[in-house]
Amino acid sequence: MLFKVLIVFVNACAVFALPRLQYNTEPPFKFYSRSDWQALPSIGTTLLQTPVPYIVIHHTYIPSACDNHEKCSAAMQSMQNYHMRDLKVGFCIGSSGDVYEGRGWETKGIHAGPANSVSVGICLIGDWRVQQPPQEMLESAKALIQLGVTKGYIKPDYKLVGHNQVMATECPGKALSNIISNWEHFSESFNELSDNEVITLDFPFVRREEWHARPPKKTLPLLVPVPYVVIHHSYSPRACMDSYRCEEAMRSMQDFHMDTRGWWDIGYNFGVGGDGSAYEGRGWTTLGAHSLRFNNVSLGICLIGDWSNELPPPQQLKTAKALISAGVQLGYIKSNYKLVGHRQVRDTECPGDALFEEIKSWQNYSPFPAKVTDLLDVEEIPESIRKDWKDRGVLNASVPL
Ligand SMILES: [Zn+2]
Ligand SMILES: [Zn+2]
Repeated sequence: MLFKVLIVFVNACAVFALPRLQYNTEPPFKFYSRSDWQALPSIGTTLLQTPVPYIVIHHTYIPSACDNHEKCSAAMQSMQNYHMRDLKVGFCIGSSGDVYEGRGWETKGIHAGPANSVSVGICLIGDWRVQQPPQEMLESAKALIQLGVTKGYIKPDYKLVGHNQVMATECPGKALSNIISNWEHFSESFNELSDNEVITLDFPFVRREEWHARPPKKTLPLLVPVPYVVIHHSYSPRACMDSYRCEEAMRSMQDFHMDTRGWWDIGYNFGVGGDGSAYEGRGWTTLGAHSLRFNNVSLGICLIGDWSNELPPPQQLKTAKALISAGVQLGYIKSNYKLVGHRQVRDTECPGDALFEEIKSWQNYSPFPAKVTDLLDVEEIPESIRKDWKDRGVLNASVPL
């Protein structure tokens, strides 16, 4: 509560702060630096090699459009707070044409998968699927790009694309897509693939909104940082190799968990697709429903597919590991966490024989607990709960688990 009050106070102060123009060439828009909108320091930044050959245009979808400093700062803060502790893009623009610094010109963003290392991402705050962005916003976007060229951060012969030309997504919305297709430098396609994509915090991360998740029926908080990470496979749906099918897989798991199983939401905290993207399930701080009796002390990550006889593709394994390191760096997973397969905490074949053999070689793999009855001796589970299980005999093999 105190925290909320403090945030409101900080926002109120920000209204009176004068925008600082950081550039020598004065741009034709109000520019708010990170400190102007009270950004948190960013974590794990990577230098972007400039000048970049691409500009990628986004909309936010959520948060919705904002037309003053207070609302736009709040939008920036909410986007920053969302998981990765930093903006995905270089800059965002509000409805009145004010520009807000995200990662800026020289830091690599996490906004468009394969285009991250060769582009600056610019987001127009709002949902521009049907509605057209205001003229001021569009003019500022163009002026910002021009400024980037003048300052040497963007190649003079740059190509401009919408997010949906790089990855399977609705972003930046149909209305905005139509508009930018008439802009100078618009390119029909993106084709500059970079092969040094994935580093620690750098993998495509697909939010719930982006895969069109249903809202949860109810949520409970997860006490973080968690001491355990549990690896699952989906078995069904089978492997997905592009974002269209992976998003569909996330939706089908969510439907199955909510409608057939009667759970509040998709059970897993995250899904990881064969396309190398991490998909937000319940997320970092919401209690999952993936490992009965173990949910309270763990995050559940599901590698979409049936990994009984074959291994997930390299990019899927890589992203699963990168997601775990991101969780550690962001403070959601204990640094001395233990990694286990679902079968170690419940009678199940999950995560499949092949994947289970694979994770035994991963960092922090723990052979204990080896089977569900070991849960009685897992010290991270409160003594009172374990005593209750012992008294009621719930972990006895004769009782269905
Ligand atoms: Zn986008
Ligand atoms: Zn499982």
